[in-house]
Amino acid sequence: MTTAVVVGSGPNGLAAATVLARAGVQVTVVEAAEQLGGGARSTESPISGLVQDHCAAVHPMAPGSPFFKTLDLEAMGVRWARAPIDAAHPLDGAEPGFLHTSVDETAAGLGRDGARWAGAFGPSARAFDRLSGVIMSPMLRVPRHPLLLARMGLVAGPPPSLVGKLFRDERARALFMGVAAHACQPLTQPLVTGIGAGIIIAGHAVGWPVIEGGTGRFTDAHIEMLRGMGVRFETGQRVNRLYELPPRDITMLDVHPRIAAGILAEQQPARARAAFRRFKPGPAAFKVDFAVDGGVPWLDERVSQAGTVHLGGSAEEIVATERDVGAGRMPARPFVLVGQQAAADPTRASGSIVPIYAYAHVPAGYSGDATEAIIAQIERFAPGFRERIVALSSRTTAESEAENENFLGGDILTGAKSPLQFLLGPRLSAHPYDTGIPGVYLCSAATPPGPGIHGMGGYNSAQRALQFLQHRSAVHTEVYEPCR
Ligand SMILES: Cc1cc2nc3c(=O)[nH]c(=O)nc-3n(C[C@H](O)[C@H](O)[C@H](O)COP(=O)(O)OP(=O)(O)OC[C@H]3O[C@@H](n4cnc5c(N)ncnc54)[C@H](O)[C@@H]3O)c2cc1C
Repeated sequence: MTTAVVVGSGPNGLAAATVLARAGVQVTVVEAAEQLGGGARSTESPISGLVQDHCAAVHPMAPGSPFFKTLDLEAMGVRWARAPIDAAHPLDGAEPGFLHTSVDETAAGLGRDGARWAGAFGPSARAFDRLSGVIMSPMLRVPRHPLLLARMGLVAGPPPSLVGKLFRDERARALFMGVAAHACQPLTQPLVTGIGAGIIIAGHAVGWPVIEGGTGRFTDAHIEMLRGMGVRFETGQRVNRLYELPPRDITMLDVHPRIAAGILAEQQPARARAAFRRFKPGPAAFKVDFAVDGGVPWLDERVSQAGTVHLGGSAEEIVATERDVGAGRMPARPFVLVGQQAAADPTRASGSIVPIYAYAHVPAGYSGDATEAIIAQIERFAPGFRERIVALSSRTTAESEAENENFLGGDILTGAKSPLQFLLGPRLSAHPYDTGIPGVYLCSAATPPGPGIHGMGGYNSAQRALQFLQHRSAVHTEVYEPCR
């Protein structure tokens, strides 16, 4: 029987395991941590009874992902939950910007910039069904829908600082820049807009849902489904070298390219190894989970209905803070993302106590404590927040990496999303999943289409592995046929 080992059980590792198991391959998943799921787990924190998303919380890239479409989520007991407002961007002394799934509703709230917002993102959102397969595939190939891609490229190509100038008022400019900041890169670089534009467009097509009961609910159901297909799981086993693994036909690495270079060592061709070692981590995130009595007292009450809140002030301020973070300087008022999952999924709350999830963008490997900076940024738009905190637990960049080595230096995106790394993955190749060793593939968020819960790195790389198996069996048939 054909066999495969998947190293790492993040959403991409599980997607790769699914594709291979469906093709009849006997799969074993080996995970360093005691708990399966990588960045797609839930935890009970900081007080018992509250479900927190350990890492990934909001899923605009999942419902439209070609991989997710192959899963029967309903049969798996997984339900999307949607907040009345997808995202809010409060401003000092001005009306917040609100992002809705409906382009028209979003545009209606953006005054004289409404038509421009609808023109920039509406057509791509309407074509998202066709576009998603293109933007979730490796970029170095002839695209199936070149016109759609070119249309999206108008807003995804230029730097966010330039695209922001499309809008005349701060409300739309800041709303756009808050989403662009998800790239965690200096916002004056070209192509960095790709991540933000992708999230806005996907959001206008499918919303920014959370998973009822926590992201871990999906992962647990996915693992149960895989066990039912005969996939085996081993936890608490860090893989250091290929030779530690049992004999197998296929190896899938759901790891950071630098970890992959260590595992493959001298077996990997020198050029590929050098490229994997050069793959740069990006800036980091410092996360705080809060238990808050009565929720966050936002100055503008409508913000309470948003699943995600971006705190960073004006577009200009966000450009400046992201530049500082990229240059290794901790800003006094960092960009903060707040998750109010209970706005979408009331099962997350315990009586009047709701879980609030927040992380700040901080320099790579930041060794300080950003808890106070996060609280101050929330207080700026919600005075009195501090008094409502019942409990909190902070996660430093070092703790992030200790829990999941893929988050090197606290980089939650598995590698800097600088223009080249974002588009190409670890090396210039039409096959960005290849490691240079036949039968061994990289499938983590370092590969296209990049970070997030969509499973497409795992799905695409497993297709590549299946091609290898087909080719190998064709060669064997050719060689052995005359002997039969
Ligand atoms: C704080 C935070 C917030 C986030 N928010 C969102 C969000 O809201 N929405 C979203 O879509 N995404 C979000 N993300 C990003 C998302 O979690 C990641 O992009 C995604 O989990 C990457 O999946 P992956 O399968 O590539 O790897 P990972 O999820 O990183 O999993 C890799 C697994 O491999 C294991 N591993 C590594 N090295 C080895 C080894 N040598 N041997 C054995 N096992 C190994 C690790 O322990 C880990 O379990 C967030 C991430 C963080 C940290």
